[in-house]
Amino acid sequence: MASEIEARVLVLYTGGTIGMLKSEGGGYAPHPGFLASNLRSQARFYDPAGESVFANSESVGAFKSWSASRSRSGASTPTPPHLPPEQDPTALRVETSDGHIYVHSLVTPRFAQGKRVRYAVWEYENLIDSSEIEPSDWIRIASDIERNYHAFDGFLILHGTDTLAFTASALSFLLEDLGKTVILTGAQIPLSQLFTDAVDNLLASLAIAGHYLIPEVLLVFDNMAFRGNRCIKASSEDFHAFQSFNLPPIAEVGIDIEVAWSQVLRPGPRPFRVHKKLCADVATLRIFPGITGAAVRAFLSASGGIRGAVIETYGAGNAPRREELLSAFREASERGVVLVNITQCPTGAVASDIYATGRALAAAGIVSGADMTTECALAKLSYLLSKPELSPDQVRKLLSQPLRGELTPSAPVPTYSSPHDVDTRLRALFSQLIECAPPQQRAAAHKAVRPQVTAGDPVLPPEYSATWPATLADEEALKAAVMPYLLSQAASQSTDLLRTLVASLDTPALPPVTSQLTSTSSSTLALPSLLNEAAQTTLQTPLHLAVLAGNSPNVDLLLSSGASVHVRDAHGHSPLFYAVRHGATSVDEARKMVVSLKAAGAHLGELELETGAVGLEVCKAGKAAEPAIRDLWVEAAGEEGVKRAKAALAALVGVS
Ligand code: ASP
Repeated sequence: MASEIEARVLVLYTGGTIGMLKSEGGGYAPHPGFLASNLRSQARFYDPAGESVFANSESVGAFKSWSASRSRSGASTPTPPHLPPEQDPTALRVETSDGHIYVHSLVTPRFAQGKRVRYAVWEYENLIDSSEIEPSDWIRIASDIERNYHAFDGFLILHGTDTLAFTASALSFLLEDLGKTVILTGAQIPLSQLFTDAVDNLLASLAIAGHYLIPEVLLVFDNMAFRGNRCIKASSEDFHAFQSFNLPPIAEVGIDIEVAWSQVLRPGPRPFRVHKKLCADVATLRIFPGITGAAVRAFLSASGGIRGAVIETYGAGNAPRREELLSAFREASERGVVLVNITQCPTGAVASDIYATGRALAAAGIVSGADMTTECALAKLSYLLSKPELSPDQVRKLLSQPLRGELTPSAPVPTYSSPHDVDTRLRALFSQLIECAPPQQRAAAHKAVRPQVTAGDPVLPPEYSATWPATLADEEALKAAVMPYLLSQAASQSTDLLRTLVASLDTPALPPVTSQLTSTSSSTLALPSLLNEAAQTTLQTPLHLAVLAGNSPNVDLLLSSGASVHVRDAHGHSPLFYAVRHGATSVDEARKMVVSLKAAGAHLGELELETGAVGLEVCKAGKAAEPAIRDLWVEAAGEEGVKRAKAALAALVGVS
């Protein structure tokens, strides 16, 4: 029995291999009407009465009664619609640039994720091979989504693969404050062929668009959903034609659909709208050994009208440092041409501070595009330059900030540090936060944190203050940097704060409230690993700090939350050593801590005994006639251990 729960998806069919047929001339070309009627003939894509095998195989019993009823009534295949769409009660109304039309709807069997997806395939009048796509087509697609935004749960754009990554990037910017799922897909082999990837790509797209609220422009291909503006077409042959080298997939389709909710962008804070202009005066220039300043000058010449260019550089953003070349860039940039540095490497980012060659480009006015793809950088340039309210400096500034999750923000000065370098991570994260804060606060923060970058820093209009943390993953990165600091402060000072922090880290990260998830893969920060993170210089953990502060409730809380008793600080001491030593301040508190630590498996280290550290403390206790403290050492090290510790000290100071 088919479920009544349906999602509505509008499919915009623009052309591409997916719907092509062999033309008379021999080559593949799109053919009007073919795609929708092909879909209608396949029960996977069209099962209005829930009569297909897919809708009736949830159990042996269901399958048997379905086959029996079929043999009684004769097998039925979906039939072409008898009524014109205007009279078909199941047709869907689609708003167009000059009114509206009705489109026959198709409906899938129920997906394992729970719903049937009712969809209308709105075929564009002029189906194209995507190598002929123009920016005006992107504006049209975006406007069509805007017109129909309220009537559908999600949108699917069928498109050729050649320029799919360009279209995905452009749409990601044109669709401002997007709150619904928009998917682009296509195929390497047409749906008309027996062996094709079109079926998988279409079904995966319909399933995702119909079941998940992922407010992004996604590119679905070969069972992966990528953030569209992170993709490139990486193969002209494989079914796995698209790659997103700098960001893992947003969802993977396998036995189930696994959505990486922590990576999903938050929906925009303002109502959805479409920006309907793109600047045509943009271009890309690939650096190569021997490139001349004259060639660059001609390319960027004032008469050519170029207002922005993507400069594809080597490695981490490097190019030759020949003055005649650099001056060509400098002149263009001084004229107001916006130049953005994108690496030719498919993986990794521009970090123009690392090499002198990269620094020379930055000095010539070329801004870093971080890890954006060329497709995305070009679309972003074209989008930003079409906004008359933005000056070239503001465009430059926005190019290196994430607006749609298109780049990974990076600290101004890349640093090479160990993963335990909390200070560096904090500095990097605060820089990122500052970059994305509202302009007024950013200016103040710059003064406080990075006075060197205040001069001439353009102020951006408030609507460009991107939300950061933009994803749960960003939030986790922030937590990972801030938490060790907070934990160590709380460990030595406040049991209430420590309890709150521990509780917050113990709770699995929740998926966004808007998601209609049926399966998730959410990540959490591992509490024990954070608890045992040692401070950079002292190498002390929160447990060390709680013990040093003589805070036995915090010691108990930390131990029950997974703190290790075995981490040794820069002096080679475990928390147990300091717990006993705290006896000099309060024997009772020290005893409580020693008991708890011992119960958790703590022991003094061989080195603490051998270096005389324990022996010295025992002797001090003896001298001060503090038998209670001596007892504590016995409790910690055992009689035998105390004897060895004293002997080691005696040997060290030459007393027998
Ligand atoms: N040339 C085709 C297009 O981009 C290739 C494809 O669809 O895969 O429209």
